[in-house]
Amino acid sequence: MKALHDLGVAESSRALAAGQVSSLELTEHLLARVAEHDSLGCFLHLDAELALAAATAADLRRAAGSSAALLGVPLAHKDIFVTKDMPTTAGSKMLSGYRSPFDATVVERLSEAGTLSLGKLNCDEFAMGSSNENSAYQAVQNPWDRSRVPGGSSGGSAAAVAARLVPGATGTDTGGSIRQPASFTGITGIKPTYGVCSRYGMIAFASSLDQAGPMARSAEDCAMLLSAMSGFDARDATSVQQPPQDFHAQMLQARDGATAAQPLKGLRIGLPLEFFPAALAADVDGAVRAGLAELEKLGATLVDVSLPRTELAIPVYYIIAPAEASSNLSRFDGVRFGHRAAQYDDLLDMYKKTRAEGFGAEVKRRIMIGAYVLSHGYYDAYYLQAQKLRRMIADDFQLCFKQCDLIAGPVAPTVAWKAGEGADDPVKAYLADIFTLPGSLAGLPGMSVPVGFGANGMPVGLQLLGNYFSEGRLLHAAHALQQVTDWHLRKPEGF
Ligand code: GLN
Repeated sequence: MKALHDLGVAESSRALAAGQVSSLELTEHLLARVAEHDSLGCFLHLDAELALAAATAADLRRAAGSSAALLGVPLAHKDIFVTKDMPTTAGSKMLSGYRSPFDATVVERLSEAGTLSLGKLNCDEFAMGSSNENSAYQAVQNPWDRSRVPGGSSGGSAAAVAARLVPGATGTDTGGSIRQPASFTGITGIKPTYGVCSRYGMIAFASSLDQAGPMARSAEDCAMLLSAMSGFDARDATSVQQPPQDFHAQMLQARDGATAAQPLKGLRIGLPLEFFPAALAADVDGAVRAGLAELEKLGATLVDVSLPRTELAIPVYYIIAPAEASSNLSRFDGVRFGHRAAQYDDLLDMYKKTRAEGFGAEVKRRIMIGAYVLSHGYYDAYYLQAQKLRRMIADDFQLCFKQCDLIAGPVAPTVAWKAGEGADDPVKAYLADIFTLPGSLAGLPGMSVPVGFGANGMPVGLQLLGNYFSEGRLLHAAHALQQVTDWHLRKPEGF
């Protein structure tokens, strides 16, 4: 058997079922690894005692006859999901010391499925960012090159999975925060259709965009986790009413006309012209095209399509997301949650000092932009226009899906950049979200799948986008690719 930390979610599940390892052994091993690689900065909170107790309980349940697929599999959660047994900070000083009285639905469902949590994973403050450098606590290093960022905002989740500290983790994606860090660290991640995973207990950034999803080594691992995480939840008004999905079964479902050598026969993959601009880094372009060539060998056909409003997705997103953020973050007033300024003159002064101390620079920037675009006189000029364009961007995708079944392209225009490089220029970071934002604005499901390495040996992800509720089809294509390639199995040196 492989080293315990090299087992992914599905492999851990099989090893546990076969009695090759106990959950306690697996959990002890991973806790030791987390401690050994503490300098990566992945964890904001670790609870060895709780994890070991949950592992022991899982082993007892298995001995008593339970055969739940995920029973005893250790994970960790992005610190944007509230948890009753551990603190939740959303990467912000505003919530330092905060404890939720309940678990987020995603956390609750994964625990009902038998998984256990080692702790809470670092992220950009309130999930705003692309490099994890906006965390109020610590930066996260990319295990492929410690001087580079792991991406964001789910950077702690991505780095922890890539460094083999956990087989899988939860993430959230508002404008790319599952897909981009997955791409930057060489792991697999899926953001499902908006509404597939409950947002209950997921600290809100931009409610009309926020979606939870799994980050793991392979499409198979993601399929198993997503089946457990997803499903209707009456506590989230935007949760989609559909019966529970078995994404693992959907992933394995053979296509009509498929053959053993060509499992993707008949699958039409659209390549939007705008996803391959002249300015796209050559190394990213090369790896993405290598991935596409493999998909073609598997029987897929590539067709040219167009998403003419791709560039507009950036201004549209950076109006809508801050608008929603400014509204969502108004609840952090020093009264109800977390931080409160120690000294103040009156109520207004308390609000001001609390928010000035509690929020970091990027969060403040977005609150100000959001308040501005929603204010009288600017609402029509900015917010309303952005909403109209958002609809047009979604319509463009529907035109594309008349010509193809899936859409493919790069996740990000470059590989992971050096820490500190984007610090003085927020707009530069915003521009790098160009390929993930259109799908987010449309509410579509999307994946990042490793397809090789670019400059300085840094990983590159292929983005696959599908129409609403096509998670099964996305996972099927990614799984087929991972059956004939080993990019997702490569790991950073020293891990
Ligand atoms: N990078 C984007 C932002 O900063 C996306 C973040 C996210 O998906 N949470 O808003």
